[in-house]
Amino acid sequence: MFGRSLYAVFAVVALAATACGGGQESYASVVDKAKNDKKLVIGVKSDQPGLGLRTPDGSFTGFDIEVAKYVAKELGVETKDITFKETVSANREAFLQQGQVDMVVATYSITDARKQKVSFAGPYFVAGQALLVRADDAKLTGPDTLNGKKLCSVAGSTPAQKVKTEYAKEVQLQEERTYSACVDRVLGGQLDAITTDNVILAGYAAQHAGKLKVVGEPFSTEKYGIGLKKDDTAGRKAINDALTKMFSDGSWKKALESSVGASGFPVPAAPQLERY
Ligand code: GLU
Repeated sequence: MFGRSLYAVFAVVALAATACGGGQESYASVVDKAKNDKKLVIGVKSDQPGLGLRTPDGSFTGFDIEVAKYVAKELGVETKDITFKETVSANREAFLQQGQVDMVVATYSITDARKQKVSFAGPYFVAGQALLVRADDAKLTGPDTLNGKKLCSVAGSTPAQKVKTEYAKEVQLQEERTYSACVDRVLGGQLDAITTDNVILAGYAAQHAGKLKVVGEPFSTEKYGIGLKKDDTAGRKAINDALTKMFSDGSWKKALESSVGASGFPVPAAPQLERY
């Protein structure tokens, strides 16, 4: 009798645990998820040319997508078994915490504040914050020329945070949900400039050649990491091993040249992985 009711309690607890994972089974590490299910859900951007872009046929292209595919393959998951899920800057931590995605590869800077909520493998790329302005704007040349200007960035991003803490008094900051929304508003003349990572801006400048240009020396260091559930040490190690292989077998450079390189962005050397 006692044994049976105890079993019932366990069954209820197990059901509740499954329900909490948003319908997905919970797992200790992304390594286990990949090994057991042979499937992964990966959070990516969908509107950043050269990095993470949804094409009209519904597939995804860009450097982040290539990195995601390579890493997934190293974890034992084929490209056809990856579900790419759109993330925006503000929901990346929450998507990982809630188990809506197994990893995030989405121009995602490694920061101490974010490390309180998620873990990072990498970095697999280093970018720097710059400005994107209309091509015929001769006055906006860098962050020190932003006085009285209307600047766009994205909620939950490191560049928006930096502008708020360092330039907020002189700049009118408009926060959008995505960078493509910022691009529309600058092209439309409602806003004057966009700030985020130079590599993202280069993609938009190439997409709107002759209408937009990147200005200013990079004024921050953005180390792109692969976001994982907090404390997934096994996942971080396995993904760092995958990245090391990607750097050394030529795949990393090839992926970068064919994606980001197409916008004219100079291809740098592979970064040092962070050990923490
Ligand atoms: N790398 C920066 C960040 O993680 C800006 C790019 C983005 O918003 O995705 O916030």
